Amino acid sequence: MSETADANGEGSSSMHIDPQRAKLLSENLSHVYQRIQSASNGRKVRLIAVSKLKPTNDILALHTDSSQPQLHFGENYAQELTEKSHLLPKSIKWHMIGALQTNKCKPLAEQVSNLYCVSSVDTAKKADALEKGRAALTASNEEVEGTKLRVLVQVNTSGEENKSGVEPNQEVMELCKHIRDSCPHLHLAGVMTIGAIARSQAASTAEGVNEDFVSLRETRDRVAEELGINQEELELSMGMSSDFEAAIAQGSDEVRVGTTIFGDRPAKKDAKITEEKNAQYD
Ligand SMILES: *Cc1c(COP(=O)(O)O)cnc(C)c1O
Repeated sequence: MSETADANGEGSSSMHIDPQRAKLLSENLSHVYQRIQSASNGRKVRLIAVSKLKPTNDILALHTDSSQPQLHFGENYAQELTEKSHLLPKSIKWHMIGALQTNKCKPLAEQVSNLYCVSSVDTAKKADALEKGRAALTASNEEVEGTKLRVLVQVNTSGEENKSGVEPNQEVMELCKHIRDSCPHLHLAGVMTIGAIARSQAASTAEGVNEDFVSLRETRDRVAEELGINQEELELSMGMSSDFEAAIAQGSDEVRVGTTIFGDRPAKKDAKITEEKNAQYD
């Protein structure tokens, strides 16, 4: 597919959009916006449409929707994000939300000029590699000059061994200070958690409070204090399809919603970057 890619995202001009699919996606998206609106009481909450493993046609359909063009899209794999970004308009704001490999950080930051945020920074090495990539991009691209790459520090609020993220104690402080002090091309925009599925399910059935969300908010407050900045300068990114309303109720500034907008995802091996014209949707 890379032969159809070009640096300006003009590959999108020939991309097929199925009108029925576009209508369904648009309805799903506005339903999510309505739910955000009622949960947030008018507070501004960013919606990232999580398009991982979904074709560029779906993304273009929502981005060019005349009633409500969606700007923010989230991806989990650096390679997939990079390929999609080369095929789609530069007006999209990309979020890298998935587990990051250190060696993918520099190319990602260097090759995707409209990368808006990396949400999953959990080591100083990854921050340094993103810093290098953004510095290289800045040197070669006038459009990004002077704009920093936003990053969030991912926090392991649930204490699960297999979850990525720094511990919500000294580790988070050190990484946040490192980004502030040693990464001039990065902007520490906040903190992010995925949280334990079990907890979010418990919290959404009972009127219970999700401990991961409480923990992230407390972590944010402590980091802000330690850095000597206002809490509002650090955003909270928490909440997905199953729990975004609960997350908003607990102060989330940004929710990442995939399945509720795009439907179930295919297996990674079956995912296509771009859907051909006669593809059937179920
Ligand atoms: C996939 C993913 C999401 C979206 O999950 P859904 O349940 O499909 O809404 C949100 N955040 C992260 C980090 C993800 O990997």
